[in-house]
Amino acid sequence: MLYRVLHAANEWYGLAVFWLFVTAFIAALTMIFIFPFASLLLVFLGVFALLGAVMIGKVLGAAERGAARSSLRRHACPQCGSSLPPADDAGGQRCETCGGAFCASGAPQPADHARLDAEAAGPDQPAT
Ligand SMILES: [Zn+2]
Repeated sequence: MLYRVLHAANEWYGLAVFWLFVTAFIAALTMIFIFPFASLLLVFLGVFALLGAVMIGKVLGAAERGAARSSLRRHACPQCGSSLPPADDAGGQRCETCGGAFCASGAPQPADHARLDAEAAGPDQPAT
C-alpha cells in the first residue's frame, strides 16, 4: 500500500512541478508590467525552488525504492502483494501475477518485451 502511494506520487511529481513552474512563469510575465520587482523576485525564487524540487524528487524516489525493498525482503510483490518466485542471478524479481519487475535496489525494471513475447508464444518457440 505504501509502495503504491509513493509510486503514484513519484509518477506525478515531475508533471506537477512542471505545471507549477509554468504557472509561476505566467504570473511573472503578467506582473512585469504591474509590479516588476515581484517578477524579479519570482525568478530568484524559481531558481531556489528548482533545487528544492530536485531534492524532494530524489527523496521521493529513495522512499519508493525503500518501500519496494521492504516488500521484496518479505517475498511479496510491492505492486499487488502476491508472493514472488526466488530472485534471479542479478537479484531482480518479477511478479507473475501483475508482471511488475524489480531490481535488487527496489527500482522498477523496464519490461523485457522480448522475453514476455517468448513466454506468451509458448515453450517451443526459441527466444530471440
Ligand atoms: Zn505483482
